[in-house]
Amino acid sequence: MSDESAQPLNPSPLPRIAVLATGGTIAGAAPDATNTSGYRAGVVGVDQLLQAVPSLSTLARIVPEQIASVDSKDMTLALWTTLAQRINTLLATDDIDGVVVTHGTDTLEETAYLLHLTVKSDKPVVLTAAMRPASALSADGPLNLQNAVTVAAQKSARGQGVLVAFNNRIHSARDVVKTSTYAVDAFQSPEIGALGWVQDGRVEFQRGVVRAHTLATEFVIGANWPNVEVVVSYAGVSRIVVDALVAAGVRGIVVAGTGNGSIHASMQQALADAASQGVVVVRASRVGSGHVMRNGAAADDALGFVSAGSLNPYKARVLLMLALAAGGTGPVALQKIFDTY
Ligand code: ASP
Repeated sequence: MSDESAQPLNPSPLPRIAVLATGGTIAGAAPDATNTSGYRAGVVGVDQLLQAVPSLSTLARIVPEQIASVDSKDMTLALWTTLAQRINTLLATDDIDGVVVTHGTDTLEETAYLLHLTVKSDKPVVLTAAMRPASALSADGPLNLQNAVTVAAQKSARGQGVLVAFNNRIHSARDVVKTSTYAVDAFQSPEIGALGWVQDGRVEFQRGVVRAHTLATEFVIGANWPNVEVVVSYAGVSRIVVDALVAAGVRGIVVAGTGNGSIHASMQQALADAASQGVVVVRASRVGSGHVMRNGAAADDALGFVSAGSLNPYKARVLLMLALAAGGTGPVALQKIFDTY
């Protein structure tokens, strides 16, 4: 005789993880398995991505969703709004314990930082990607996806801000940058290193995140994006691009300066003129690691500039857009924001 009511309920059901697919090489397909450069990104759907990793069902109850199918080089501000709003909606319910986002590698560091500043939850949000298309020999996407879900399902990943799980390492969204055009080990957190690692179902965090993020920010994702562009300083650069941007009505310009955010004299004069007309000028560096010292290689106080600190130019642009959208004005208040996030 069987007594159905005596069956014990599962005392600890697996966490529910939403996997939001946006495209990228992880969802790429090439004409043959040895082709790892001439493929189309974002053509494999989320269900197929998940089918390639049957072991996910032992880690989590997966809730798949196709948000977009783009090559992330073509990421748009509208898609950023859609993605961030969807994550916030999902995480506000008790039904979802964490989110994994599959993304292209090209702009992953920008999307990750945007989410780090605008997700309003302490539940884990983990981005992952791949350097080889899904059709390739030794495709790296399936293991990266397995590891991303492993991290998102961990209690220890809560409250760490948005994370990037890639090639067995766990990075903070604020620090991570793409540093290789082709290698499977394509992401690093220069100067500071990864937060930790994930391997064979084990997750270890080796340090914490210091700067404010997610629930502790003043930023709310919206549909209004102020126009902020990035310019680069280099030998012989003129003032043409800066003047054209000012004439086009941009609200802000981030300059990827040489070295410690130094700027060629002709471009610096154009940026000083821009700042005097109310355009916000943020000084970052094109170097790839280190930080830009305020009043170091340029007299920020006198010129009305803001220093990006340790943010690279593309992440500095994300922060400046959010700060302007939140009503931030003037170099003093904006510098405080750059010193906080
Ligand atoms: N162009 C691709 C993308 O960013 C590159 C990749 O995912 O590796 O979508």
